[in-house]
Amino acid sequence: MALTGLDIYKKLPKTNCGDCGLPTCLAFGMKLAAGQAELSACPHVSEEAAAELTEASAPPIRLVTIGAGDSALKVGGELVMYRHEKTYYNPCGIGLVIEDAMADGEVDERIAQTKAASFERIGQTLKADVVAVRSASGDGAKFAALVGKVNDALGLPMVLMAENADVMKAGLEACKGANPLMHGVTGDNCDAMTALAKEHSCPVCVSCADGIVAAADITAKVEAAGIKDIVIEPAWDSPANTLKELIQGRRAALREKFRALGFPFIAFPCKQTDDTYVETALAGAYIVKYAGIVILGSLEAAKALPLVVLRQNVYTDPQQPMQVEEGIYPINSPDADSPVLVTTNFSLTYFTVSGEIEASRVPTWLIVMDAEGLSVLTAWAAGKFVPDRIAKFVNRSGIADKVGHRKLVIPGYVAQISGELDEELPDWEITVGVREAGDIPPYLKQMTA
Ligand code: SF4
Repeated sequence: MALTGLDIYKKLPKTNCGDCGLPTCLAFGMKLAAGQAELSACPHVSEEAAAELTEASAPPIRLVTIGAGDSALKVGGELVMYRHEKTYYNPCGIGLVIEDAMADGEVDERIAQTKAASFERIGQTLKADVVAVRSASGDGAKFAALVGKVNDALGLPMVLMAENADVMKAGLEACKGANPLMHGVTGDNCDAMTALAKEHSCPVCVSCADGIVAAADITAKVEAAGIKDIVIEPAWDSPANTLKELIQGRRAALREKFRALGFPFIAFPCKQTDDTYVETALAGAYIVKYAGIVILGSLEAAKALPLVVLRQNVYTDPQQPMQVEEGIYPINSPDADSPVLVTTNFSLTYFTVSGEIEASRVPTWLIVMDAEGLSVLTAWAAGKFVPDRIAKFVNRSGIADKVGHRKLVIPGYVAQISGELDEELPDWEITVGVREAGDIPPYLKQMTA
């Protein structure tokens, strides 16, 4: 049974020196028990205690870094089965596969697709963040040439796919320092691949057609050889088995503390179908159910956009509403005479309201107030979208410099604050707008007619 924070605390030096970055040994013990800290952060723990605590303090799913520098991808490190229990921390990497048997034109197209798969949503850039390079030819020189080309063109974390150690070696030589994930460690090539991984300090991906039970034997062997950064590929013979093993793997690591499966997973829907819609649906299922990386056959916008948006929604803290930045949002090229509407920064509110304004084609200033990501009524009830705060926001927003008039439209749901807001903003004329976003277009058209 796993040790509690108090159990761990009893084995720590109890000096509260703070060298671990936490104020007390108890706080450090609690973090260790939750898998949110590494024992190595305490330089004062005795050898005897370290030996006892190593097992208990290791994170249930190892955090593995692929790639280097600012674009490095961190996968794993998750602590819960269900997002509502806490949150998921490290978003699933999404990318496509490029093979060395492809014609130059196809390679260039896939590189271009990867670059183009970048979208702005709720103040974040959502994009492809990994690329797989596969040796289909079995020719080391061809593989190396493609790895070098993809690395130069994209600079993204790479998954190098080759089961022949000589071919893999050629690929690794072509991207020194890039810290790629070596995919294709099997029971047969384990010794040669782990030797390469040690030489190049790279993470490895254990891939076993017989599924994760057989893969667990290989991960134990790889770990024993001194490689700690491991990713596992679940069974790929059918989508149902892939999904089943992704779930079983997460459950075994978190609930059963089964260390041999305590690693992030990678899934390849590109191996399972040629149908782009089916592939997108499979990738979505794998993103939701625990894949740390998903590799697709292609990444055109119609496929990439829903997947990166799904990932964004899954990997947000459910206790922190999604928010947009406070500020002035000009919609439909407004000018000094355009109406000014105010709302809160709950992302759903913003997107609904801004979408309706856009659809109305009426040039409008939407000013969005930081209400800690709450919707209009909730923010009002919580005292965060109330007259004095709205007045301060309007004054600091700078909207008065953008318009010649002093007319402010508030959401119909908070009509009750209009009188008080009138007093807080004596220079402004407060108008109560509509309650439902769907009524905004006719309201704006009538207002500006
Ligand atoms: S570094 Fe070690 S001894 Fe110092 S506060 Fe942290 S856990 Fe305690």
